[in-house]
Amino acid sequence: METSTWSERSQGENAVTGSILETVFPPNSLLSRPLNVKVRGSGIISVINEQDESGFCPFSNKGGTATSRPLPGGRFFYFLMRLKEVYTVRERLEALKAEALEELEQIGQTAQVQELRVKYLGKKGLLTEILRGMGKLSAEERPVIGQLGNEVRSAIESKLEEKKEAAERAEIEAKLASESIDVTLPGRMVHVGNRHPLTLVTEQIEDIFLGMGFTVAEGPEIETDYYNFETLNLPKNHPARDMQDSFYITEEILLRTHTSPVQVRTMEKMKGKVPVKVICPGRVYRRDNDDATHSHVFNQVEGLMVGENVRMSDLKGVLLNFARQMFGEGTEIRLRPSFFPFTEPSAEVDVSCSMCGGKGCRVCKHTGWLEILGSGMVHPRVLEMAGYDPEKYTGFAFGMGIDRIAMLKYGIDDIRHFYTNDVRFLKQFNRV
Ligand SMILES: [Zn+2]
Repeated sequence: METSTWSERSQGENAVTGSILETVFPPNSLLSRPLNVKVRGSGIISVINEQDESGFCPFSNKGGTATSRPLPGGRFFYFLMRLKEVYTVRERLEALKAEALEELEQIGQTAQVQELRVKYLGKKGLLTEILRGMGKLSAEERPVIGQLGNEVRSAIESKLEEKKEAAERAEIEAKLASESIDVTLPGRMVHVGNRHPLTLVTEQIEDIFLGMGFTVAEGPEIETDYYNFETLNLPKNHPARDMQDSFYITEEILLRTHTSPVQVRTMEKMKGKVPVKVICPGRVYRRDNDDATHSHVFNQVEGLMVGENVRMSDLKGVLLNFARQMFGEGTEIRLRPSFFPFTEPSAEVDVSCSMCGGKGCRVCKHTGWLEILGSGMVHPRVLEMAGYDPEKYTGFAFGMGIDRIAMLKYGIDDIRHFYTNDVRFLKQFNRV
């Protein structure tokens, strides 16, 4: 082919691969008149005005050396036209590359990247369309343009890849930013509850008696008449029952009026073994009209000790020890004669007022003493009914209201506070 001759003679990479931007070509005087060709090689433009004497047309350019010898007659024109054709595909390729890279620079979403991939590199894309024109090129030109096409393709591809990664990263970051938890928001307050003042006092009482070798026993709140009264020496029609009027479920079943039945049940379980040393805390019920000092439900703890040679002095020693641990080292107790059907002798136990130290104040009604306990030696008949020989064994028992102790301990003026569940009241015992 004509151009192959030229190509063989050409020297320097820019003779063919340099971009010819413009040709000015007098149609009828190809070789006799000055030829103006602007060549861009390596991006630098040179202007060639005329061929030299030897017939060489120096395609000089500053980016590299390119010389060519014009072919005789119309061949040079043809050559230039071929060049023009090469140039057109080349220019289109480079224009496409520039356009693609510029357009890619503008975008920021993965969907747009995909859109541009189809637009430029797709089967019906712009690059394919340009390269389709390669069929018109010569066998020599084809690989050169083919290579350029590949370069353009890979340049666009790497830009696409770069933008795709950047877009994906930006999208992930945007998603993370939109879904992130704002840790600067104040958290929801978790309200931690605390134990009820009656529970606190009950546990303190239990601790004191456990320290003296007692165990803790519990029993049913729904009790039979038999355990609640009869085994405690309170037969039917006994006048003392009036003091303990309760809530009856049937004639024989009631809500227990005291924790004393647990003492009897414990003795039954022990089957005559000694010593019995037990305290029985729990809720009890009486048909009382509620006021500042009375509640139809309240808490009691009773204690029982049965064995050989258990004496009144043991009772006094145990209660004094309890009172001093509960109310303070300097606390004194005093026993006053009293009556309970299940103990004989019986005694009310007062402790010296911890508020005024015995001098007298509003709490102790200016007596210096607080009445907190009922106690006594277990009635022989009660021992007998529980299976213990009253000739061989003796025992003492005591009982106190946990509510009353809690009221004294915390200075609470109304028993009803314990049962109305006012959180403002209850949360005051957070740190006691
Ligand atoms: Zn007092």
